Amino acid sequence: MGGFPQSPKESESTMGKDDWRKLLCPKCKQLKKTCTCKPEPSKSTVVKVGRETKGRGGKGVTIISDLLLDEKGLAELATKLKTRLGTGGSAKGGRIEIQGDQRDRIVAELEALGYRAKRAGG
Ligand SMILES: [Zn+2]
Repeated sequence: MGGFPQSPKESESTMGKDDWRKLLCPKCKQLKKTCTCKPEPSKSTVVKVGRETKGRGGKGVTIISDLLLDEKGLAELATKLKTRLGTGGSAKGGRIEIQGDQRDRIVAELEALGYRAKRAGG
């Protein structure tokens, strides 16, 4: 990469504010090693996007589970997804059901919302 050779003294002096900032937690400003901040559970857990056809006349629904949301958050997310996908669905018992097998689209929508989502089942 050419240029000027760096003496040990020089590289030491470049350990400036920016380098220290990388070691600090953006939330509490403590060293990341020792900080106790936890990432938001709803966004750090992998959400499972599966399918269920049993007793539904073969049509099937997409089931979104492992969402660590309360009932309100669940209902809000269900509404968002239903609007985006233009389909029906419901939120109950900690899961969201969306009409039809739309796993690929739902995984994409969840990821767009900042979740980590994984397609499950066959
Ligand atoms: Zn922290």
